[in-house]
Amino acid sequence: MTATGRAPTPSEIPLCEPCLAGNEWRYVKECLDSGWVSSVGAFVDRFEAALAGEVGVEHAVACASGTAALHLALLACGVAPGDEVLVSALTFVAPANAVRYAGAHPVFLDAEERHWQLDVAKLERFLAEECTTRNGALVDQATGRRVAAILPVSILGHPCDMDPIVAVARRHRLAVIEDATESLGAKYKGRAAGTHGDVGCYSFNGNKIVTTGGGGMLVTNDAVLARRARYLSTQAKDDPVEFVHREVGFNYRLSNVAAAMGVAQLERLADLVRAKLRIAAVYAEALGDLPGVSFLTEAPWARSSCWLTTIRLDPAHARMDRVALRAALQDRGVQTRPLWQPLHRSPAHAGARSYNVEVADCLQAQALSLPSSVGMTDAQLGAVGDAVRSLLA
Ligand SMILES: *Cc1c(COP(=O)(O)O)cnc(C)c1O
Repeated sequence: MTATGRAPTPSEIPLCEPCLAGNEWRYVKECLDSGWVSSVGAFVDRFEAALAGEVGVEHAVACASGTAALHLALLACGVAPGDEVLVSALTFVAPANAVRYAGAHPVFLDAEERHWQLDVAKLERFLAEECTTRNGALVDQATGRRVAAILPVSILGHPCDMDPIVAVARRHRLAVIEDATESLGAKYKGRAAGTHGDVGCYSFNGNKIVTTGGGGMLVTNDAVLARRARYLSTQAKDDPVEFVHREVGFNYRLSNVAAAMGVAQLERLADLVRAKLRIAAVYAEALGDLPGVSFLTEAPWARSSCWLTTIRLDPAHARMDRVALRAALQDRGVQTRPLWQPLHRSPAHAGARSYNVEVADCLQAQALSLPSSVGMTDAQLGAVGDAVRSLLA
């Protein structure tokens, strides 16, 4: 599939396609042959154990989607209706939607210029200048609401600067939920992205680095949080024989069929990351000298997984803006994609509070993601490079 949901014509180079070249067929067949196709089964257990091992955490809970994992993470962290959650403004809409599912209010915070991730200095300033402590809880003075959690989103395969985020959260007793849905395979200071807060979430949507068609995973080192998330994901079943439920839960489990695919995909994670890094390196080499073109800079503490290689066009020096470039590349059969409408501009979240969001707007106006499928051939990468060069040189 493509990120736009439109089937590509054969001559087109799509933005991001899955690569199913490992044991996917074999494990899915094994799963079907076993008859265990639903949300209980050996592959779900194997997928959870493999992912927990891969990223180095104690507990992993497979979910129907990354969005479901985020929703469960918020609930398991005690985010309650009426609370506020501080969320990156420059991201796909899912984390803000999850906040709303929990009955809470997102507050949108800015990205920073170099790595395009959550601006930690602005986060610290928001907490210091806009919030106060009342009866042991942190309260946003403008709204009177309790601030319950920080939800940094590691976008495009690059981790957020987690240490200062966790430090400021600890100081104010806030939960940290890391949206690492775009950053499986990335590392922050040597440890997997998604494992630095209280809970991390991954996605296995069709365009993510590891896909199960659709799916997600919640990871944590906190046994109580993991148990709570698992309980809520299975309709909060208190008595499986008599079907007693003391609260309203969700049907958020991943199917065994999807997990079978996930186990096969995860076996190849290192190869998939290597392929993404190669794509980024080829583009950097081919396009790095073009006037007005730059790339997200990898932070010294980061190992990006380069999920989608994205260029930034400086309007003062580039020959085209990203709207014109996207259209021209589309005419040449090259599918590209802008970043998401920053969430403080999203009609779905109209009225939500935001704090000094400027850089997110600027990045969104200037950035364009290039085709980044792990299966791309040298010829395809060359063709994209040539097409971009011919338009911008
Ligand atoms: C993909 C993604 C999600 C989760 O997506 P699902 O399709 O629900 O798995 C969440 N946040 C971000 C930033 C994403 O890119």
